[in-house]
Amino acid sequence: MIHPESKPLIYDLDLTDLEIILLSWGEPGYRARQIWQGIYQQLWTDSDDFSPLPLSLRKKLNDRFSFQSLIPRITLASKDGETVKTLFTLSDQREIEAVWMGYSRRNTLCISSQSGCAMGCVFCATGQMGFKRNLSSGEIIEQVLHYARQLKAVGKSVTNIVVMGMGEPFHNYDATLQALDRLNNSNGFNLGARRFTISTVGIIPAIHRFTSENRQYNLAISLHAADDELRSSIIPINKKYPLVELFKAIREYIDHGRRRITIEWAMIQDVNDSVDQARKLARLLAGLLCHVNLIPLNPTRSYRGIAAPRQGLSAFQAELECHGIPCTVRLRKGIDIQAGCGQLSVENTVANQKITVS
Ligand code: SAH
Ligand code: SF4
Repeated sequence: MIHPESKPLIYDLDLTDLEIILLSWGEPGYRARQIWQGIYQQLWTDSDDFSPLPLSLRKKLNDRFSFQSLIPRITLASKDGETVKTLFTLSDQREIEAVWMGYSRRNTLCISSQSGCAMGCVFCATGQMGFKRNLSSGEIIEQVLHYARQLKAVGKSVTNIVVMGMGEPFHNYDATLQALDRLNNSNGFNLGARRFTISTVGIIPAIHRFTSENRQYNLAISLHAADDELRSSIIPINKKYPLVELFKAIREYIDHGRRRITIEWAMIQDVNDSVDQARKLARLLAGLLCHVNLIPLNPTRSYRGIAAPRQGLSAFQAELECHGIPCTVRLRKGIDIQAGCGQLSVENTVANQKITVS
């Protein structure tokens, strides 16, 4: 719970937590499952929707639980017609953002795990805003439910979820994984594990833990540099978790579950876009089951670097491919509303609102 005076958020509860509460109210055990299916599958928004439940139980649910903690404050739609970003106010007035990206057969949500981020990567707008606080599992889930309801209204549904919004998910491990487990649960949102991707800057103890827990969610590592000197200069946490250790953890993850890992690389002109970096990266990745995503750097307010030009991207990609490493250049979406990778920051959205119709 965030505020002592506020009611507990129903999405913060596991199914067993809810079962225990309902049993203590003298309700039959199956009610918890019924409520969960109502929330996560019928996408009911409050207890008044729960017509199969007795009126007294509906009232009790309403009195005891909150069904909404995120208030959508600003919604920006990209000119591309396929990207929408929403800024939400939390119950303690902190703010977060989440993004919907529509593709021909996919609806991907990019959700936040924290308000702000403590990692301070120099090229990232969220890092530039600093750390505000961790989100609860329910607050992470609610971002998904918000968009799922909107998609349902137009006959669509969420197909993929990436934890690549604000924050470092492995710096808020428990809440993030609890949220994903609830969204994955067949009595809950029931989205297949392989439809989720967690992106981390490389918090090594959390990668070890993730490996040992055998969860089937996809893992992406934000690498961006192939030697410690360069990586530490743009990603401060690299000083604590250097590349040798990081790659030990990555190798263990891949070997343990035979899982392919995604490597994220924001291409920054004259910083990390050289063929020499590509060669070093190929050396690090030799023999690993992996895929590299190259993302032309998105502009952010406090970083002067610019996106690598097209030839730079092609040469880098060609170098990796000639070492047998699969590599794609990621499509940029929602740059006009600052919804691209690393662009989520409350300040940006509030400024952008002035020039975009919400
Ligand atoms: N904290 C996690 C997840 C959120 S960031 C992480 O760092 O992985 C989502 C992705 O956007 C990461 O791969 C991050 O490195 C990348 N990114 C950050 N700033 C960017 C920028 N300005 N341009 C392109 N990608 C960026
Ligand atoms: Fe945090 Fe990820 Fe941004 Fe780094 S790139 S500051 S870890 S959100």
